[in-house]
Amino acid sequence: MSDLDNEPVIRGENLARYYQVKQGLFSSSKTLKALDGANFALNSGQTLAVVGESGCGKSTMARLVTMIEPPTSGKLWIDGHEVGGMSSSAQRSLRNAVQMVFQDPYGSLNPRKQVGAILEEPLIINTSLSATQREQAAREMLNKVGLRREHYSRYPHMFSGGQRQRIAIARALMLEPKVVVADEPVSALDVSIQAQVLNLMMELQEELNLSYLFISHGLSVVEHISDEVMVMYLGKTVEQGSKSSIFSNPLHPYTQALLASTPFVDPTKRAKRVVLTGELPSPLDPPSGCVFHGRCPYAREICSQQIPTLKQSTVGHQAACHGIEQDWI
Ligand code: SF4
Repeated sequence: MSDLDNEPVIRGENLARYYQVKQGLFSSSKTLKALDGANFALNSGQTLAVVGESGCGKSTMARLVTMIEPPTSGKLWIDGHEVGGMSSSAQRSLRNAVQMVFQDPYGSLNPRKQVGAILEEPLIINTSLSATQREQAAREMLNKVGLRREHYSRYPHMFSGGQRQRIAIARALMLEPKVVVADEPVSALDVSIQAQVLNLMMELQEELNLSYLFISHGLSVVEHISDEVMVMYLGKTVEQGSKSSIFSNPLHPYTQALLASTPFVDPTKRAKRVVLTGELPSPLDPPSGCVFHGRCPYAREICSQQIPTLKQSTVGHQAACHGIEQDWI
């Protein structure tokens, strides 16, 4: 077994992405820290869920992992290769290993193309398969995602939202990726359909040994599909660890607030009732100290003065909070 066999399929070390933003013609630019030092590892066949409100950095993380844009600082490894040290042609071939499924199954498929052509497009660009081989691969993939082989010649508008998301998943799998970055893949679907698509994703994960980076604004969906969870707020990781540890012992007040607003069938799953007050601060002008202090019911003086760092807790996962560290929560 080589060293690469033990490597996570994706690993980020102090990964950060900053943007310079000008708010007016004559104003000086400000730094927007969209992602501010994320550390994570996604293992083969596993799911890492990245959770938080809009502006927390989860979509930025998706763009870095799919190599749509480079990090401002930090390191990213994909399939054991450090992306920053690679030539652009090597990066291009690595790109096929990570594919993306988007939130909107209506906007992400070209309405003028038949489903077969949509599925075959990545094969035309990236492989030397013949037309017959491509058609066969596309029809087989339709079957794999629970659609019928004859759906090959239909257009996206002829399908329901759930079916379209199956087509988007099929397209993402055509190049046999190791990782699928799923950006809120079920949030645009009816609740009754969400479970079907999540079940399909889990079946495909098992069958193809896929790894998922699963991006979500809430925790309820994540509970079914994830192995590891990262909770993010204004570009920073506030809590991180195994799903079982985070769901049974949510520590950070923000995670507790997310869980308290999540509907669970099982009443024992209810978290401490932490209600979020105040507005999400502007990421261009984040609060000093703990970025959550303006909305945190447990905040003390130190919270606005010192930035808490992510530390191992006694329950087995990491959290960034003075109150947990100093035992007042
Ligand atoms: Fe709340 Fe302070 Fe902990 Fe931040 S550091 S979450 S403000 S208690």
